Amino acid sequence: RGSPALHVVEESDVADWWPRLGAASEKYTRGVVGVATGSATYPGAGVLSVGGALAGPTGLVRYAGGAREEVVRRYPSVIATDRVVDAGRVQAWVCGSGLGTDERAAAELRAVLAAPVPVVLDADALTLLVDGRLADQLRRRDAPIVITPHDREFTRLCGEEPGADRVAATLRLAAWMNAVVLLKANRTVIGTPDGRAYVNPTGTPALATGGTGDVLAGLLGSLLATGLPAERAAAAAAYLHGLAGREAAQGGPVAAADVADALRPVLARIT
Ligand code: AMP
Ligand code: MG
Repeated sequence: RGSPALHVVEESDVADWWPRLGAASEKYTRGVVGVATGSATYPGAGVLSVGGALAGPTGLVRYAGGAREEVVRRYPSVIATDRVVDAGRVQAWVCGSGLGTDERAAAELRAVLAAPVPVVLDADALTLLVDGRLADQLRRRDAPIVITPHDREFTRLCGEEPGADRVAATLRLAAWMNAVVLLKANRTVIGTPDGRAYVNPTGTPALATGGTGDVLAGLLGSLLATGLPAERAAAAAAYLHGLAGREAAQGGPVAAADVADALRPVLARIT
């Protein structure tokens, strides 16, 4: 199947889409993003996704999950609770990285899906989605959903590998799930349920290291919380994440926390 409307993301797109900070900006009007990631077993996933979210344009990050202590020690400006239901109002949720797949994790994912705001679902949230009961809740949802699988997560969700035509594969999953799909790789593809597709040209193998996907999910959530349409938020996040990977690689071997830190200079240059 051909892909008529494939758009290669450009720097000028990201600059155009980026929300402007007016003089009257206030922390709540800039958007609040909620992050439900990490666990006692994987606290680092919480720290990394919060790091991505804090680099984004929102004014406030709320964290709900099992890595409160680690998150607040690293980022004192974050407001943290243990559970999603106690987190207070947010304009978008990020859910999944390091969350686990036990009953508690499933309950947190259900709480996120019950909120009438855009959500990013990654990692363990995608594993939980293979469960048919959650799939129903997903389809009944009005607010946008962005899922961010790498190839193995895609294969688990679809029952087949993406194959050679990655744009077609992305669009198939997007239509089936009624979600924006960001299929991660060197050339990350973003596809919408109604058949629009973007490809990100900034990928770098420096990102092929544990935890970089968590940073991406956090940044994407921050963009969604500002009200940016889901496909633009996803395309812009992939673009900036790639540049941050390149920037971080200038300093030698890259760890995911370096990518979160490198988002700031990249954003200062581009937005
Ligand atoms: P995750 O596997 O969830 O940690 O996500 C890995 C991140 O690194 C995604 O954003 C991928 O697009 C990116 N990535 C992984 N390997 C490569 C590669 N060889 N070239 C470019 N980007 C990559
Ligand atoms: Mg991942």
